[in-house]
Amino acid sequence: MLDTLGDLKRTQYCGSLRASDADTDVVLMGWVHRRRDLGQLIFIDLRDRAGIVQVVFNKEQHPEAHAKAEELRSEFVVAVEGHLLRRGKSNPDLPTGEIEVLATRLHILNNSKTPPFQIEDEVTASEETRLRYRYLDLRRPRPRRNIELRHRVIFEIRMALDELGFFEIETPMLTRSTPEGARDYLVPSRVHHGQFYALPQSPQIFKQILMISGMDRYFQIVRCFRDEDLRADRQPEFTQLDLEMSFPRQRDIFEAIERVMERACAVVGVQAKGPFRHLDYKEALRRYGSDKPDLRFGMELQEVTAFFETVRETLRLEGNVQAVVAPGAAAWSRKQLDELAEVAKLAGARSVYTVKITAEGITSPLEKNLGADGLKKLTEAVGAKAGDLIVAAAAKEQIAHSDTSLGVAGQIRLYLGDKLNLIDRNKWEFLWITGFALFEWSENEKRWVSAQHPFTGIVEEDLDKLETAPWECRSKGYDLVLNGVELGSGSIRIHRPDVQARMFKALGLSDEQAKQRFGFFLDALTYGTPPHGGIALGLDRTVGLLAGEKSIREVIAFPKTTAAQDLMAESPSEVDTSQLDDLGIAITGDDK
Ligand code: ASP
Repeated sequence: MLDTLGDLKRTQYCGSLRASDADTDVVLMGWVHRRRDLGQLIFIDLRDRAGIVQVVFNKEQHPEAHAKAEELRSEFVVAVEGHLLRRGKSNPDLPTGEIEVLATRLHILNNSKTPPFQIEDEVTASEETRLRYRYLDLRRPRPRRNIELRHRVIFEIRMALDELGFFEIETPMLTRSTPEGARDYLVPSRVHHGQFYALPQSPQIFKQILMISGMDRYFQIVRCFRDEDLRADRQPEFTQLDLEMSFPRQRDIFEAIERVMERACAVVGVQAKGPFRHLDYKEALRRYGSDKPDLRFGMELQEVTAFFETVRETLRLEGNVQAVVAPGAAAWSRKQLDELAEVAKLAGARSVYTVKITAEGITSPLEKNLGADGLKKLTEAVGAKAGDLIVAAAAKEQIAHSDTSLGVAGQIRLYLGDKLNLIDRNKWEFLWITGFALFEWSENEKRWVSAQHPFTGIVEEDLDKLETAPWECRSKGYDLVLNGVELGSGSIRIHRPDVQARMFKALGLSDEQAKQRFGFFLDALTYGTPPHGGIALGLDRTVGLLAGEKSIREVIAFPKTTAAQDLMAESPSEVDTSQLDDLGIAITGDDK
């Protein structure tokens, strides 16, 4: 027979009890984490969201409670009334290790089946099992801590933005397509057969309309939906910190985000301090081979194409050659060098060369091509010293006017930084990237597409090139990067209807198409639109970094798998035919 909660009231969380609470009566509630039966004495570890405390049932002193404790099994839900005592011998592994509860009464509130895995941080279960039983997984300390951290970060963001005068405003989930470059999730309308809502890829258009509405400063912690083929660390629904300001200078937006990030980092005791560094997009590529460079270590790229000109034919080199100097890697073994070459090839390198600099001299497979003198010149030019390894890579140009060798060398740099332990894990290197191009050439579509989205502002002096030389137009966009991870992007927007209309045209939309897709927005722009701009940051990713987790799934209460499935709720799932009939939808094709 199970007991009822009745009028029992919990006095404290198990995990919050300390020696200073000793000699008081307590009422605790939680789950049986573990039970040890020593005959006269039964011990249980009682667990709640704050942690674990030891409870003792003494047969002599409280026979009734002791008898009941014999029935306890893992994950049973109980209420314990008792007296808090100092332990004779404390347990240094537990924050509550100096005390224990002598139980006077036990109430068994619920039973539990044997869980499929132990509720411990060292879980051996697969991620699939963990996600299927996510409610048990979340009872483990680490996921619980991550969820609490997420709450604290969001709470700080809300306070920081409130202090800066931002209003939190909700925008619709059932809406129409927003162009962020992914496929839409569609929701069929029952009332209007054949018509669909789209779930928002972002609240972009709505937040711009809020600026037209005079709201001046908007933010939202908002769910966004993008139907993409999922890569490792993507989710079909994810959360953004989205914001927009009227009449902003670029630095006003940066400052707002810097305040937010300072507060968010302080939650985990990290001191971030604005203003964050700025780097031009082209410079980031040239120096780090990435538009999201990890600045926790140096090892900048050095272009060494000139040293290879005489042997270009012999080595069948295509494109530029970039080099990095890896400190201490001259001692690398054949196997380590082979692995490095493999990584470089996977990154797209056509050729990879290494030069070892040791106290005895310079050795390299390139010696027969460049000669001892050539090697020496190269070594001097890149500033390599004894003990260093020069790694040079060449790659063929993939996209017109873009230097593929930079991206390749950028990946080599990251690999070496990791292998050589050059990355200081205690550093938090925020960085603003600016100076992006407005358009990218899409090989698939054979046309210019927005590098970000079609509402991104154009540097005024480039407006005239919108029709004639789109590739030369610079955008007013920016990205925020932390430790080599892109946290998000934003821009100062187009606020003039004539410019927005020209932009749609430049993107290949006819007047008719632009009107059909964005007519309401183009209309709104004609009623006194203030200059405005904003940004959106990936909240899952931000919290993931603060929590020190590799996967954003670890900081989302109910994440989906890389196959976009919720294993616990078993979604997506089939629906009743009557539901489909209501919507006027028939399933066709091979799946049915
Ligand atoms: N809507 C953009 C995005 O989701 C961000 C922005 O431009 O504010 O990436």
